[in-house]
Amino acid sequence: MVGVCGAPYKCPPAPSECVLMLHDYLTRQGVRGACEIALVLPLGSPVPPSPDTSRALLAAFAERDIKFIPGRRVASVDNGRNVAVLDDGAEMPFDFFLGVPKHRVPPVVLESGMAENGWIPVNPRTLETRYENVYAIGDGANTGTPKAGVFAEGAARAVASALVAKLRRQGSGTLYDGFGTCYIEFGGGRIGKVEVDFFSGPAPTGNYYEPSLALRADKETFGASRRSRWFGM
Ligand SMILES: Cc1cc2nc3c(=O)[nH]c(=O)nc-3n(C[C@H](O)[C@H](O)[C@H](O)COP(=O)(O)OP(=O)(O)OC[C@H]3O[C@@H](n4cnc5c(N)ncnc54)[C@H](O)[C@@H]3O)c2cc1C
Repeated sequence: MVGVCGAPYKCPPAPSECVLMLHDYLTRQGVRGACEIALVLPLGSPVPPSPDTSRALLAAFAERDIKFIPGRRVASVDNGRNVAVLDDGAEMPFDFFLGVPKHRVPPVVLESGMAENGWIPVNPRTLETRYENVYAIGDGANTGTPKAGVFAEGAARAVASALVAKLRRQGSGTLYDGFGTCYIEFGGGRIGKVEVDFFSGPAPTGNYYEPSLALRADKETFGASRRSRWFGM
């Protein structure tokens, strides 16, 4: 059983990828037929901003006989009985529980007084906090975009541009665009891709690219380019 204990959580597609990869792993071990796989997700669909991606993931779950329970979160785990209790009181027995814990900012941020309702409020386009000259980026900032590295990178780019513009007295820099590309493991080595745009329109939109072996090279180049730029590796 893979269970998410609250939203928002890091990398919304990750639990879906996890069950698909678990299916492959158990198949390789020759025990898939003796196992049941279930995913409990507090979201209404696997990737809400992209209905095409969600449909593809739901089809992949159905093909692999993976049970999907949307709109529910794991509220508690009774280790003595090996039972997960959902927020509607339903009980799900398990032999093996992979849980995504409820997310929160680190204590140092809470103690600073910057957080409100658990996250740091910011102007979503400039990442300015309510304190002058203080910005927040990454998972702790309440931008309305997902808690994913690719969105932290976009927010960092906007803040860097604002700081450079300020120091050079050249206007206000570029705004955070709320755009991100996520690669999704569909199992069998195939990778799908979704490009999500949170700020251009009245509601978030997503472009979905069918999973393929070819997209694996894309994902590897994406990772390698960051390792090289950030760490010189
Ligand atoms: C399974 C999984 C898969 C993911 N896949 C993707 C993906 O494919 N693509 C993607 O874009 N994102 C992905 N993510 C999400 C991505 O990892 C996060 O969104 C990203 O790391 C957020 O960066 P951050 O710097 O805001 O926070 P973090 O990376 O969490 O960094 C915060 C750091 O602060 C440190 N810290 C905490 N308290 C203190 C303190 N008091 N003093 C000093 N340091 C402290 C922590 O140890 C940590 O190192 C995934 C996440 C998970 C869990």
